[in-house]
Amino acid sequence: EPELRFDDVHFAYHPGRPILQGLSFVVPAGKTVAVVGPSGAGKSTLARLIFRFYDVQSGAIRIAGQDIRDLTQDSLRRAIGIVPQDTVLFNDTVAYNIAYGRPGASQDEIVQAAQAARIHAMIAASPEGYATRVGERGLKLSGGEKQRVAIARTLLKNPPILIFDEATSALDSANERAIQQELQKAAQGKTTLVIAHRLSTVVDAHEILVMDAGRIVERGTHAQLLALG
Ligand code: ADP
Ligand code: ADP
Repeated sequence: EPELRFDDVHFAYHPGRPILQGLSFVVPAGKTVAVVGPSGAGKSTLARLIFRFYDVQSGAIRIAGQDIRDLTQDSLRRAIGIVPQDTVLFNDTVAYNIAYGRPGASQDEIVQAAQAARIHAMIAASPEGYATRVGERGLKLSGGEKQRVAIARTLLKNPPILIFDEATSALDSANERAIQQELQKAAQGKTTLVIAHRLSTVVDAHEILVMDAGRIVERGTHAQLLALG
């Protein structure tokens, strides 16, 4: 598995209004690093940079030592699976949306991923099952259901690098616990960056970064951060 590294990353959406101000950290190969911090700290922004929705202004993001600006779009997309906070789905079937990123996946594989993400109940509830299009003919998905589709997609894609941006934030607590277990299973041995709203959900992370206003203000294991108070 590749290492993911941020080297002194600076980023602003608008000139003169810096958002990320010199972020440096490493997610060692096969380990999980968590990012916590208040709303507006820049956590989602750093996740978007890894996928090159935007490019850094200075510094670099490296995967296995390679600047991501030197990677092709294709290899970057193959290497990374991201579960964003707000998922936008294609106006197509749930199955299509799950298989996006893994063209050629079998129906069995799609169903397995759907079940791991607890989608079966939702599919069963629609008379046409998987054939019903999202956004058409009445298959209305809630925010939590969309998030589950994004999770199933990432589980099916099974990439070496995982990024969870508050991946379970839209779920009710019963689903949240069950799906977090699936995500932890999926993260075993993968290079994983978890953006979390609560310290208690990332107890086992190799390192936790506490962000505020675009900077890392504390870092350590869960036990070390608790000892800081
Ligand atoms: P967090 O995920 O920690 O809540 P964000 O990365 O979403 O933080 O946001 C960090 C800062 O960047 C906030 O001040 C937010 O308003 C701003 N921001 C986020 N997205 C955009 C955008 N697309 N354009 C301009 N500013 C943005
Ligand atoms: P390490 O080798 O550093 O312990 P692992 O690859 O074993 O890392 O990752 C498993 C850990 O990742 C889990 O125990 C958990 O703390 C964290 N984790 C992974 N995904 C999530 C998630 N979605 N929500 C919360 N924690 C997660």
